Amino acid sequence: MSKKIKEIVLANPRGFCAGVDRAIDIVEKSLEKYDEPVFVRHQVVHNKRVVESLEKKGVKFVKEVNEIPDNAVAIFSAHGVSSEVENEAKSRDFMYFDATCPLVTKVHLEVQKHARKGRDIVLIGHKGHPEVVGTLGRHPKDSGTNIFLIETKEDIEKLKIKSDSLAYVTQTTLSVDETTELIEVLKSRFPNIIGPSADDICYATQNRQDAVKQLSLECEVVLVIGSKTSSNSNRLKELAEKCGTKSFLIDDKTDIKIDELKFATSVGITAGASAPEDIVQEVISYLVPLGYNHVRNLSENKESMTFKLPRELSD
Ligand code: SF4
Repeated sequence: MSKKIKEIVLANPRGFCAGVDRAIDIVEKSLEKYDEPVFVRHQVVHNKRVVESLEKKGVKFVKEVNEIPDNAVAIFSAHGVSSEVENEAKSRDFMYFDATCPLVTKVHLEVQKHARKGRDIVLIGHKGHPEVVGTLGRHPKDSGTNIFLIETKEDIEKLKIKSDSLAYVTQTTLSVDETTELIEVLKSRFPNIIGPSADDICYATQNRQDAVKQLSLECEVVLVIGSKTSSNSNRLKELAEKCGTKSFLIDDKTDIKIDELKFATSVGITAGASAPEDIVQEVISYLVPLGYNHVRNLSENKESMTFKLPRELSD
């Protein structure tokens, strides 16, 4: 009887996006150029390995601006910050770089534009996520308009909005399908609501979700490499499961439970936008001796997006 070939299938694209690349570059170039420690407010990107490796190189992660000493060099994370945090930093005597992803900044600018035009705003996003906290905090309180956060259809039903002038924006790392549904519900409840041409979900989130759907069709198990705090990685796991494929969110190979792979002849691997490719390669090396010695790329989708570094840090 012929033995079944066990294979690993790799999603494309996977792993680092342009915003994460830029944020990590900002931290690394700051470490090269300035004295240690460099202070970073919040995890620069939501990945345990990245954070631990930067800590070893001399980064000190802090929760709030008041923990950053005078004369230090500081960096804001890729998720963005509120106007209040930015103003506090400006009033202090230290230098800072803003590693906010330009696609998050785009949403901040949309919020400010809508408020200036007198529109109330509905933000679709996950309560407590740093990007959402930052975006809510970009709403100008003195504009006389309101901003409402919603996560579910039930939240939309409960909205009490009197204004006819209304707009929506979204977090960048949501589930594309769920957000489309929520926007439809919003539009049916508030027919005059306006929004961006599609939504604010970024290209990297969209591409990784498209790729994991394809991966789920071809594999019996999907391993999503990413930290529990990573919004886009969690969405990839959920999506694989919605497609009917068993999925596990793992930080690295030590989270793999061999028993759960036992019956799978094809294991799919993808990585969230903040998960480094080294971990993907380590997971492959771990699976090969278990018999998964055929490795296949699902497609060759390449992303070409890049974002510029701040002038002071570019070569
Ligand atoms: S996931 Fe999207 S919004 Fe977030 S850092 Fe990457 S490109 Fe920017």
